[in-house]
Amino acid sequence: MALDGGELGRSAYVGARVSPQRAAIARAADAMTSAFSVDDLLEAVRRQVPGVGAATVYRAVSAMEASGFVESLGVREGSAIYARCHSGEHHHHLVCTGCGAVSDAECPVAPERYTASDGFRVTGHSLVLYGQCAKCQSAPSSISPHGRGGGI
Ligand SMILES: [Zn+2]
Ligand SMILES: [Zn+2]
Ligand SMILES: [Zn+2]
Repeated sequence: MALDGGELGRSAYVGARVSPQRAAIARAADAMTSAFSVDDLLEAVRRQVPGVGAATVYRAVSAMEASGFVESLGVREGSAIYARCHSGEHHHHLVCTGCGAVSDAECPVAPERYTASDGFRVTGHSLVLYGQCAKCQSAPSSISPHGRGGGI
């Protein structure tokens, strides 16, 4: 989701007193350079904190998502994927379906345009743009011939 007001939550999460495990999970998410699933994060955290439970990581991801520290990018290949969000400004993400690289994109949405005559008021939105990064486009051999991407 890319709801407005995330910045407050983001700093609240970073500044909150979190358990050492939660802090390690946040550091691992921070170190992710591309889109990741909870399983990817679990694997990364276990390199730092052996024995950390999957449920702990799932709960931490929920908390990080609620605070805007990470953003949900929807579901790919049956797994929910996330990206660490570095900007406090409202923005969206370009996600490479080849390698999972994530970059920020300006918001193209003008909510007032969608205000319906029946009085519906837009209060938030989410948007993820999928595509292929320059690297993946110039390396066609690394991409599945069936066009499903597959990196994430
Ligand atoms: Zn972001
Ligand atoms: Zn790529
Ligand atoms: Zn937007």
